[in-house]
Amino acid sequence: MFKAFLIKYAEIGLKGNNRYLFENALRDRMKDALKPLGDYNVSKEQGRIFVECPDEYDYDETIDALKKVFGISSICPVVVIESSEWDALTKGVGDYVEAMYPDRHFTFKVEAKRADKKYPYTSPEICSHMGAYLLRRFGELKVDVHQPEVRITVEVRSKAYVYSIVIPGLGGMPVGTNGKAMLLLSGGIDSPVAGYMISKRGVSMAATYFHAPPYTSERAKQKVVDLAKKIAKYTGQIKLFVVNFTDIQLYIYDKCPHDELTIIMRRYMMKIAEKLAEQEECLGLVTGESIGQVASQTLHSLAATNEVCTLPVYRPLIALDKNEIVDIAQRIDTFETSIQPFEDCCTIFVAKHPVTKPNRKTIRHSEKNLEEKIEDMIETALSTVETIVVE
Ligand code: ATP
Ligand code: MG
Repeated sequence: MFKAFLIKYAEIGLKGNNRYLFENALRDRMKDALKPLGDYNVSKEQGRIFVECPDEYDYDETIDALKKVFGISSICPVVVIESSEWDALTKGVGDYVEAMYPDRHFTFKVEAKRADKKYPYTSPEICSHMGAYLLRRFGELKVDVHQPEVRITVEVRSKAYVYSIVIPGLGGMPVGTNGKAMLLLSGGIDSPVAGYMISKRGVSMAATYFHAPPYTSERAKQKVVDLAKKIAKYTGQIKLFVVNFTDIQLYIYDKCPHDELTIIMRRYMMKIAEKLAEQEECLGLVTGESIGQVASQTLHSLAATNEVCTLPVYRPLIALDKNEIVDIAQRIDTFETSIQPFEDCCTIFVAKHPVTKPNRKTIRHSEKNLEEKIEDMIETALSTVETIVVE
């Protein structure tokens, strides 16, 4: 029975003079999400976005697509009443209740919003008159203004809209309204979740993956591409940079104390990701680190890793427990891909007993052993980077 959806947004309503930028971005992200499903018409309407569906469309598929768009606070399947003139309005709302609820033994309340301030009734008047009309038309209904089982909302504009289903959206802000960041994307559980979380605040994503062939396989790389595809459903297009890290890793392995390998390797990952970030006009790096999760994520280790970065590093999982991260991974459908058993480049070169409290001075000292070749190796890694555009 629904041919349209009314979309509400929350936070972007607070953006003052820039509000239209947020509304336009949300409208465009919704268009992107719906495009593969058919010919929808998405338009802005005084503090709402309105979706008109094609004649043939799949209700559940449409809702699923809209549930992946950041910036939506709720999705309301709506019936449009072409005229808001009172008799047409009451009849339209009554017909809605009749079609929607074959069994009308429930309590209800009418809520009204009036965009057209010249409308002959105020919002409270619309509520009470409409409530009275519905009670006359359907004897089984009962009013409960405090805890109704059904809230029937009527929005009166030039046309009128009636709805009683409110499906929660993801919240957040539309992607593209808050710049771009570079995600360090591995095949693990954490980094896809980190990218999702930062993107939720309106940030577009690029991503960098370090692979180490032949120590890591094509299949491990494919897993990262698959993960990028999964999060791209939320973040939109992701340009994924695949950096061949083998020579650098072997060089570090050869020249530095083995208990410092992970930290030194992570410092070079950050440095290289930062170069790609600057090239892509990204304003920050994003990682899936969480305090204490592994040796390289103690406060000492994080300080050592952070030291080489000049861009801000966003670590949205920093204070989450693993089970909390797993919950999100399951919700956004990356978990099953993340747990596929493919080696990741860090696991191959890890020491049995990595330092947990690296001393930054000592690390810098160890890195002096790399001076001869490392800059050239970074240049080579950057010039041989593979770019995969993930939609
Ligand atoms: P994840 O589950 O995201 O792989 P992790 O718990 O395995 O994280 P680490 O391996 O210490 O933790 O990695 C910490 C962070 O460094 C990751 O969340 C990711 O952002 C980044 N990272 C690690 N390995 C790679 C890689 N091969 N390519 C790109 N980024 C990586
Ligand atoms: Mg990992």
